[in-house]
Amino acid sequence: MSDLMSLQQLAQLPKNFMKRKIMINLEQTKYKVIEEAVQLLEWKITPSEIECHIFWKDTYVTDEEYRRLLPYQRINHFPGSYMLGKKNELCRNLNRMRKMFPDDYDFFPRTWQLPYQSEEVRQKQGTGIFIVKPEANCQGRGIFLTKKLDPFLDKHYVVQEYLCNPYLIDGLKFDLRIYVLLKSIYPLKVFMYQEGLARFSTKKYVKPQKKNLGSVTMHLTNYAINKRSKDFVFNNDTNKDDVGHKRSLTSVLKYLQDQGHDVKQLLNQIKQVIVKTIQSVQGELSHLYRSQQHNNDGIEQCFELFGFDILLDSSLKPWLLEVNHTPSFSTDTPLDKIIKKNLIMDTLILLDVKNKPKNIYLEQKRAPVYQRPIKMSQEEKEKQSSKMSLIEDKHLNGYIKIYPDENKDYYEQFMPPKPKERDSMIINQQLEQAKNLEKTLKIQVEGKPPKLKPAKRLSTNQSFTDLEGQSLQQLTGRNTVIPQTRTTSQQRPFSSITAINRPISAIRKNVFPNQHQNLNTSQNQKRLVYPPPAELPPKPVYKMIPIKTFSFQKIENNQKNE
Ligand code: ADP
Repeated sequence: MSDLMSLQQLAQLPKNFMKRKIMINLEQTKYKVIEEAVQLLEWKITPSEIECHIFWKDTYVTDEEYRRLLPYQRINHFPGSYMLGKKNELCRNLNRMRKMFPDDYDFFPRTWQLPYQSEEVRQKQGTGIFIVKPEANCQGRGIFLTKKLDPFLDKHYVVQEYLCNPYLIDGLKFDLRIYVLLKSIYPLKVFMYQEGLARFSTKKYVKPQKKNLGSVTMHLTNYAINKRSKDFVFNNDTNKDDVGHKRSLTSVLKYLQDQGHDVKQLLNQIKQVIVKTIQSVQGELSHLYRSQQHNNDGIEQCFELFGFDILLDSSLKPWLLEVNHTPSFSTDTPLDKIIKKNLIMDTLILLDVKNKPKNIYLEQKRAPVYQRPIKMSQEEKEKQSSKMSLIEDKHLNGYIKIYPDENKDYYEQFMPPKPKERDSMIINQQLEQAKNLEKTLKIQVEGKPPKLKPAKRLSTNQSFTDLEGQSLQQLTGRNTVIPQTRTTSQQRPFSSITAINRPISAIRKNVFPNQHQNLNTSQNQKRLVYPPPAELPPKPVYKMIPIKTFSFQKIENNQKNE
């Protein structure tokens, strides 16, 4: 504990830090400890959405909130961070990576999303115990263990292999809460806090059997569940961090070291789990971040403090259970308070918020247009970023930098393609698609394949009654092209003729209205290509359909119905 206390005293502050008069908006957080940390830094708390340099919010940031940020402001979430924070999204992202890198992404228990993967889950049934989790709950709510999965196959759950051999301390199962700061998504900068929490279950662990599957205080380590147990021991002693059912991370690591385990290796494995997990969503997050970025002047406008939940198995392998995008900052015990207050302070210090960008912005706003200072040059930006790296190395306090670090080359293989490469890849892909579409439409328009026989002309002396009962095909001697996307009531035998008389561009405009617009404006090409539309509008499929049943009589009837 004495180590913990000293973290705060040792906190390294950047130059003139206390004089900066930074303002923070805490209107959307309920946690007292954040206010206390801010007060220690002598920052001002403001309800103003204009004046503040930082917003601290307990829930996800919406697109709208992100868009409303002023260029000098920051917020404590990334748009799209639910891709890590929601269990089904995390499952999807890590499964995708595991398919590509099975050996490197084996730190997540086998997990499936119901109902989408119900067939795979059905096949797995009977092979062991599963833990079933509601997609979007937390604190152990709605979680249960089961052998039978049939009743849940059509429900929205995340199903995971249950890890039956956890590492035990004093016969109790525990998991680790590791705090991780994602300081920048592009370029990627990840920091791990050296102090965290270990949450213990309150009932001695026994391997899962039919009769104990329902014992939540044995199988689940959530504080919210175990604190209600009569066996829960609250640690009220500020000088002890290794007693009770909530302990400090460092006390558990020390215990493991005393047992002769290689803690350095364990920490390295944990760091890799964290970095690789974030890498699994780096492409999407950096796209969302950059596509709505407000300034180009090197201010990192979003940061996020994640809680990674890690379970150690009996061979001390770390397994990722989940990522919390809004980890709890409640402070029920003195231990909680010390750890979380230091964590928030060190996070805010590492952000290195300055007043200058705000002053420049306000100056720009006041100045007439022709006098407004020009944007930062590339050289200035590079200078600023190397200055930032120095600050990050110097003012880590309780943090360690885990990306980039000495394993950077190893991580390179999991990186998404760089935005420029990706953009050009997608541009090419989409241009190819557009070309193909144009070709298809040309074929339709020019009427090459299918080759149509010239229509039989009705001889003027044939009466309608002579023709009654014959199909249109028989009458005209040709197959008729009908776009399949039409509904039956809209189907008209010669509807393709309307298409024939229209220029290709007009047709394409109808099929992909937005893309057509973007294709013609080079500055819009980025928007055209990324993100690719979730689902392209269905391409009209043209198919030869012989019309068998139409008789003149029937056509007349149909026309009446329209
Ligand atoms: P929640 O967000 O509701 O806390 P978690 O996924 O963290 O959900 O699971 C809650 C608890 O269940 C964990 O803290 C852990 O003790 C236990 N648990 C979760 N997944 C597994 C698993 N695959 N194997 C063993 N225990 C697990």
